[in-house]
This record gives sequence, structure tokens and C-alpha cells, in this order.
Amino acid sequence: MSLIERARAAVGPVWEQHYATRKDNQAKVLQAFHAARVGSHCFHDSTGYGYHDAGRDALETVYARAMGAEAALVRPQVVSGTHAITLALGLLAPGDEVISLSGPPYDTLQQVIGTTGTSKRSLLQRGIRYREIALNDRGAVDLDAVGSVVSKQTRMVLLQRSRGYSWRPSLDIAALQQVIALVKSINPDCICFVDNCYGEFVESLEPTDVGADIMAGSLIKNPGGTLAVSGGYIVGRRDLVEEVAEGLTAPGLGGRVGPTFGLSRSLLQGFFMAPHVVGEALAGAVLAAQVFTDLGYEVSPLPAAKRTDIIQAVKFNNKDALLAFCAGIQRASAVDAHYAPIPDAMPGYADEVVMAGGTFIQGSSIELSADAPMRPPYIGYLQGGFSREHVEVALQGIVEDIQE
Ligand SMILES: *Cc1c(COP(=O)(O)O)cnc(C)c1O
Repeated sequence: MSLIERARAAVGPVWEQHYATRKDNQAKVLQAFHAARVGSHCFHDSTGYGYHDAGRDALETVYARAMGAEAALVRPQVVSGTHAITLALGLLAPGDEVISLSGPPYDTLQQVIGTTGTSKRSLLQRGIRYREIALNDRGAVDLDAVGSVVSKQTRMVLLQRSRGYSWRPSLDIAALQQVIALVKSINPDCICFVDNCYGEFVESLEPTDVGADIMAGSLIKNPGGTLAVSGGYIVGRRDLVEEVAEGLTAPGLGGRVGPTFGLSRSLLQGFFMAPHVVGEALAGAVLAAQVFTDLGYEVSPLPAAKRTDIIQAVKFNNKDALLAFCAGIQRASAVDAHYAPIPDAMPGYADEVVMAGGTFIQGSSIELSADAPMRPPYIGYLQGGFSREHVEVALQGIVEDIQE
């Protein structure tokens, strides 16, 4: 048996364990479609102001229902996850205090907060007070610190579910529930915000099911199911979502305007497919974890570990090995396979980043892709994959490369 075949046999039981979650999520999304009465009239296109866009309204009802939230804003005009998160941070006013409870947030948010960069629009420049609580040495939220730092004056806390580009465990739903309950016991009015990027449909509940007031993510990650061509979502408490919508459009307009240009069908269909696609991406991540473990690399999470995001990190400890891994992912892409990924400066990122993945949608990371900031210990972050077969084919090529 080849290394890949042995790895596939080894992870079979893990794949099987993920089945129940996939099925629960598929049933939940189907119920949301029924509750929103999605019909073929939802697939017409809208232009201009986008008044009375039935598809957009159905899409937002579906997102809210499936995520256990009161309301949703799901728009192709939201250009990325960073944009969606920034819109939610727009709930903060000068003088407010916001605390990140999961250490430094994702790279692109540093300039939004103002911990790097010189933007006059950053939170710090606008007079919002920002603090950070580091994760403890087990990579979990430091509950003692939360208890002493969060106060009646804290307007918002930030929690990032996914590891992002860092070597730490992701925060699972049970952990998020516990932290949110603690924050609410100190200050019931504190807004608990969760960056849910890469987390959707990995567990059978979402942060808004367990007390998060508001949460945001990208449509070219999990919930777009590979079909969304652009967009982001914000879901949560109705009053907060309405305020965020005014930040996206204008006071008085809010979420009642915004054309969908005929995208409602693919956004709805992508969301319908998302539980399956996320399940496939996870199956691929588990296989990759096993393969790179067998090749002698340190991986996180371990193949059989409980997962709460789709990211698989592999520590290469060597720049060339990391670049070879990224090149292998690129070679296995359906699009742009004949290009080699090269590290480059990216807006919002501190280090040069390699982004591998010839994707149908530019930058889509629910499609098979790998990213790596060029800094020691040279960790590659693998995610996505429309099917586990595609991930396996990619891994096969990388293993052959390494074994030569
Ligand atoms: C991807 C990601 C973001 C930012 O999303 P973009 O769409 O790349 O702007 C923020 N937080 C986390 C955890 C992410 O994974």
C-alpha cells in the first residue's frame, strides 16, 4: 500500500465520526430554506437600489435561521471577511472599550484596530480603547484574566473562533459558550462578537446559537459552498444587525437597499451545499494531517482531534519545504496550475505571504488552497477542497515530490 492509501485507511473512522455533524447541518439548512419559503421567485435579479429583492430577503432569513440568530445581513457588496468584521466593529463609538479575549486578532484586523498602520479610520485613531488578553499556555481563553479585565465599562469583546494564521487550537463552541456566559455574568450589556471565519458548519452549532450577540464571516469561505462569487455576512441580534446595515449603506437606508445582481440563486445554492462542502474540506484536512504526520512533520490539529474550523496547519521548519508544499497545491489546482506561487507583500499582512490555489473564485479558500506567511517556523496552512478526492490527488503529488 502507498503512504496515501495507508493514511486513507487510518482516517476512515475519523471521517465516519464527522458524518453526524454533516447530516445535522444539512437538515438544519434545509429547515431554514423551508422556514424562509425559498421559491423560484427568489432567483430573479435585482439592480439599482435593489428595493423589494425577494431573493436577498430569503437569503438573509435562511442565514439567520440556520445560525440561530434573529437577523442577518448577507451581501455581495461586503468585499471580504475583513470588511464584514470591520462593519461589526462599527458598532463601537469613541470612548468605548473593546477587548480581544483570544489574543491578537487575525493579521488583516491589526490595521483596522490600529495596532499597526496609520489609518485615520482605525479604532484607536477614532478614540476607541482597545485591550487584548493573551490566550493561556494551553491555547485557551484565560478565564481568570477575563474575570479581572472585563468590566461594566466594556462595550464589546472579540473572540476569534479559528486559529487563523497562528499555531494555536481553534476555540470550539463549548469554549465560546463558557467565555460568553462569563462575560455576560460580569456585564450583561457587553456585546459578544465572534469572528466566525472558517468555522461555519464544522460543528452542529454556531456561536450565535450559544450566546454570541453578533458574528461575521466571508462568503468565499465555508458558507458560500464554493458557489458564492463574493460577499460577507453579519448575523446576530436584530438591533445590532440593523445598525451594522446602516454602516454598510446609510442611516435611514440600512438593509432595505442593495441589489444582488442575479446572485441570489448561487448564494442560496452555495449555502445549501455548504454543510457538504465543509464536510469534504474537513475530510481532506484530516487526511492531510495523517499524511504529514506519517512524513514526520508536526501538524495541528492532529488527525483525530476534534475540529472547529477547516484549517490544517503543518510545521515545515524550513522555507524550501514550505514553498514546495505550496507549489504542490498550486500544481493540483484546476485553474492556474501552470503558475508557481511566489511569496509577496499582501495588503493587511505584516510578512510576505504565499497564497497557493488556482481557484475559480479569486482568493476563495473554501476551494483547495494553502497560505503561509513567510516567517519561521514556516508553517503552511491548508484549507478547503470541493471534494476529498481533490485533496487526495494534491497530497499524492506532494508526497511523490518529497519522497524523490
Ligand atoms: C479569512 C479570515 C479573516 C479575514 O477574511 P478575508 O476574507 O481574508 O478578509 C478574518 N479572520 C479569520 C479568522 C479568517 O480566517
